[in-house]
Amino acid sequence: MKSKMTNKQKNRTVLVGVAASPGYAYGPVRKIETRKYSLDSSALPTSALAEEENHFLSAVDKAAKEIQNLKKVTGERLGEEEARIFDSHLMMLRDSTVLDPIIQSIRQKRHNARWAVHSTLSALIAKFESSKMEIMRERTMDLREIYNRLLAALDEATSAPLPQSKTPLEPSNIVSHELTPGMLMSIEKNEVLGFATDIGGRTSHISILARAMQLPAVSGLRNISVVIEDNDMLFIDGTGGMVIVNPNEEDLNRYQEKLAVYNKQKQELFTMRQLEPMTLDGKYITLHANIELPIEAESVLEFGATGIGLYRSEFLFFRKGTPTCEEQTAAYSHILKRLSPHPVVIRTLDAGGDKLVSDISAADEANPFMGWRSIRVCLTRKDLFREQLRALLLASREGHLRIMFPMISSLNELREAKALYYECRTQLLNEGVELPEVQVGCMIEVPAAVMMVDTLAKEVDFFSIGTNDLIQFTLAVDRTNELIANMFEPHHPAVLNMINRTVQAAHSEGIPVCVCGEMSADPLSTLVLVGLGVDELSMTPWSIMECKKIIRSVNYEDVKATARAVLKMDTAADVNRYLRQKYLQMIIDLGISSFITSHEIKNPLEKNA
Ligand code: PEP
Ligand code: MG
Repeated sequence: MKSKMTNKQKNRTVLVGVAASPGYAYGPVRKIETRKYSLDSSALPTSALAEEENHFLSAVDKAAKEIQNLKKVTGERLGEEEARIFDSHLMMLRDSTVLDPIIQSIRQKRHNARWAVHSTLSALIAKFESSKMEIMRERTMDLREIYNRLLAALDEATSAPLPQSKTPLEPSNIVSHELTPGMLMSIEKNEVLGFATDIGGRTSHISILARAMQLPAVSGLRNISVVIEDNDMLFIDGTGGMVIVNPNEEDLNRYQEKLAVYNKQKQELFTMRQLEPMTLDGKYITLHANIELPIEAESVLEFGATGIGLYRSEFLFFRKGTPTCEEQTAAYSHILKRLSPHPVVIRTLDAGGDKLVSDISAADEANPFMGWRSIRVCLTRKDLFREQLRALLLASREGHLRIMFPMISSLNELREAKALYYECRTQLLNEGVELPEVQVGCMIEVPAAVMMVDTLAKEVDFFSIGTNDLIQFTLAVDRTNELIANMFEPHHPAVLNMINRTVQAAHSEGIPVCVCGEMSADPLSTLVLVGLGVDELSMTPWSIMECKKIIRSVNYEDVKATARAVLKMDTAADVNRYLRQKYLQMIIDLGISSFITSHEIKNPLEKNA
């Protein structure tokens, strides 16, 4: 990691966010604009000016509140020194030399607030940029921040399509206000070093994808897309959840050591891929992989998985729109063949939420995660669903397929989905196609499904608990919203009791339960889930070896006792305290890096963090 000399002249800025995918990356920035501000210079009628001025003043308040918030979070995580940068932004927002010309532009030139901000601040930025005084030039970045914040506060952000480049681009750190899985699918992996985004939590699909691609990522940075310039250099610490814009030599040297340790740990973990995921007293836990792309099937066995516990089939729909039945059959067959005789769970289309598929999903929903998504889309667009089920059945001849329905929230939905499956199956059998038996299961990821779990268990061959959505819906905490990331609490008693209830119901009916949400790969959660009696854990391939290491270090009887104890606790804080007391040292001694990501780091700049 060599620092470029130009970094010396540039502003060094530290920003903290959500540790979305572990690892470290340093390189140039490729900024992807996903926000466009609608600007128009037409004059307003005099009668509208007072209201427009108020609109502007409210935007100033909103921007100031956002900056205060950022300052607070940065202060808590990195210390007062690093948080001080936001003071200059706040000062600018109160500075009459900045605000007055904008207000005058509204009052005298009858400009709308957006145009007044744009025209006034653009002129000021140009003046600062060309100033002979270094101190003035340095303030350009702050002014740009204010410009973007005010426009964002005045405007509804709109999404722009991802610009495509025909020539290969230099590997860079991708910076954007937000990235959708669809956008990410159109970026070539070898052009990316890491990701940094303004919004998004740890279980947003962009974070999941970054982990699958083994690329470091920090999300929830709130204003990185505003602060950063195209020719800046960026250091991404996906393990600690922070980035440094234009890091200095000292920063880079400090991280050199961390990178060496991280790479060594990764190598060591690979040496244990053939070992069994069995507790010290002989309880075997099935470890499967979550994949998003058929190509990932090539390597999951090398990571020590004994099957695929979740293939998110919607990712097939991102690149070119709806694939044909033949294209789908080919993709599913490829995965099944590659894994055969190991089982592969293919989840039917789970579009919607933060995975919008262009010609399928509804574009403007107020609450997309609770909207027209997933199985709801499939049961309305039966043409699409039948095509996918037919492709799955045709592919089932190539390996060991299990089909899984997502987002089931009622018995009717499950029955309807199953009926369509049997209809497709009968049709193929009538056409003379020989088909093997295929197990059919459903995800338990909506609280209603947990409340109905005894009934549902009688209707399926397996359950898979989607903790990402189950936590989101149970706790009413949007999984993509970084502002409430600390409330996304897997160890909340409500969540643990729901998992327990699901396991009990499944086992009473003699069917297995898997957990395929991100929780399964979090070391402390892994231990609780095993203790609760979960039969399978499915996770990003990179986490499998760490998970194996943890399972091999404990007694099943002990984690069962742990599960019994935590089920009786009243708060997530109590559970976390108890788990840390009992297992923290063991996990640190095992050198588990994902643990450091999710629980430990308070101040990633500290040497021994
Ligand atoms: C989940 O909700 O936990 C899950 C595994 O599915 P997804 O993350 O794709 O919603
Ligand atoms: Mg889900």
